[in-house]
Amino acid sequence: MGTKRILQHFHTTAEDYTIIFTSGCTAALKLVAEAFPWIPEGTKQPSSRFCYLTDSHTSVVGMRGITASMNVLSVPIKPKEIFLSEKNVLPAEEQNCMTPHLFSYPAQSNFSGTRYPLSWIQDIKSGKLCPIKIPGKWFVLLDAASYVSSSPLDLGVHQADFIPISFYKIFGFPTGLGALLVNNRIAPLLRKTYFGGGTAAAYLTGEDFYFPRKSIAERFEDGTASFLDIVALKHGFDVLEKLTGGMEKINQHTFALAHYTYTVLSTLKYANGAPVVRIYSDTDFSSPDVQGPIINFNVLDENGEVIGFSQ
Ligand SMILES: *Cc1c(COP(=O)(O)O)cnc(C)c1O
Repeated sequence: MGTKRILQHFHTTAEDYTIIFTSGCTAALKLVAEAFPWIPEGTKQPSSRFCYLTDSHTSVVGMRGITASMNVLSVPIKPKEIFLSEKNVLPAEEQNCMTPHLFSYPAQSNFSGTRYPLSWIQDIKSGKLCPIKIPGKWFVLLDAASYVSSSPLDLGVHQADFIPISFYKIFGFPTGLGALLVNNRIAPLLRKTYFGGGTAAAYLTGEDFYFPRKSIAERFEDGTASFLDIVALKHGFDVLEKLTGGMEKINQHTFALAHYTYTVLSTLKYANGAPVVRIYSDTDFSSPDVQGPIINFNVLDENGEVIGFSQ
């Protein structure tokens, strides 16, 4: 059902990734929080950690509500800290300990458009870079919802464990449809608590007996997926390709527009020399590797006071 075209868009195949359709990126994130093997088989007290970059979307930060209900500690990590922790190498013997930890970061901040290095994925998975120094096995959730709207993402190279997306952010339609791409190395470890229509191979109504479907996608798509919208995806990808020539062209073009707009906006001045806008950005829009096409700003008056939304 349309999954081949999606995998192809992200330069991967069904051998490496499973697609679970959801109602959007937010639902995909919630699914990760619920299904991640926080408490390994045979242990009682979880020593897993959920770490997230402070520049994450609300829907990522909100995952800590679910992890807290399982006594899993959440640790916010500032971008500065992770850039500094580049020397935080985990000794090999501490990587083999089976405690699973999850680190989540956005490929692109939807607030400021800041792009974070995709190289973190491999560095964290391999123990070369450690968000916090704690023994265990690190898994990476790459929140790609904002990034993939204007950039190619090669999952053949950047093999994150979980990638949540919303399709309307890529081609404006269909709303209410997203997906969680799950790396097949972690897919079999995911836990299922609730079971909805279509996900059970067998169950008894009068007894606590439930046997899930074998396929990971079928196991996690509770109820009926939005199948008419899934049919539309192929056409979305086709038209996008035909109109633009592909994601790399979109990346270059939207960055050029953002760079131009940033330059013009940041030089606007009142007669008294005061700036007209205040831009919220961590970069100077030097390259699409560090900055996406998002400009977050307030308009100021001559005295530097913010001109409010209603005005
Ligand atoms: C938009 C967005 C989300 C949430 O997506 P929904 O479509 O609202 O579920 C999560 N993370 C990032 C980075 C986003 O840009």
